[in-house]
Amino acid sequence: MGIETVLPTDSVLTTNLNRVVNWARRSSVWPMPFATACCGIELMATACSRFDLARFGAEVMRFSPRQSDLLIVAGRVSVKTLPVLQRIYAQMAEPKWVISMGACASTGGVFDTYAVVQGIDQFIPVDVYVPGCPPRPEMLIEGIMAIQRIIDQENIPRDPSGHRRALNIALTPNYEPKNQPLPVTIGAT
Ligand code: SF4
Repeated sequence: MGIETVLPTDSVLTTNLNRVVNWARRSSVWPMPFATACCGIELMATACSRFDLARFGAEVMRFSPRQSDLLIVAGRVSVKTLPVLQRIYAQMAEPKWVISMGACASTGGVFDTYAVVQGIDQFIPVDVYVPGCPPRPEMLIEGIMAIQRIIDQENIPRDPSGHRRALNIALTPNYEPKNQPLPVTIGAT
C-alpha cells in the first residue's frame, strides 16, 4: 500500500528542487498557537476530529517557537503581553508566517482601550487576516490554505533586501447575517 503500488519502483522522477522544497514546506506547516482569549477555543476546535486540521498537515501545534513556522495569534493582545509576542516571533525559524485570527488580534476589536494593542500588524508582519468574532474553524483553515497556496505556487515573496514580505491577505467573511426571526424591542415592558 502506498505510492509504490501505483508507480514502478525502479522509475525515475525529475522535478525542480523548488517544487519539492515548497511541497514539503506547505505539507508540514507547524503552528505556534498564541491564544489569549475566546478565539483560542475556535483554534482548538480546528484541530479536533470534526474539522481535522491534520488533513492539511498543520495539526502539529508546537509550543516552542524554535520548532514552529506559523504563528497564529488568536485573541486580544494587551500592551503588557506584546513583548512576549514579539519575542516569540523573533525566535521562530525562517521562513515563517503569521495569521491574525479574529477582530481583536487584527484591530483590537471592541476593546478600544489604552491597554489593548489595536492591531498586531503594527508590531509584527501579518500574512493573513482571518475575520470574525470569533472566526469559525473553517475560516482559519481557509487562512492556512491561503498560506499553503502561496508557498506552493509563488515561492516566498521577498523584498529587495532579501527579507520576506508580509503577504497581507484579508479573507472575505463567509458568513451572511440573516434577519432576526422575531422583532426585537429594546426597553419593552
Ligand atoms: S475576536 Fe471576538 S471571539 Fe475573538 S478574542 Fe476577540 S472578542 Fe473573543
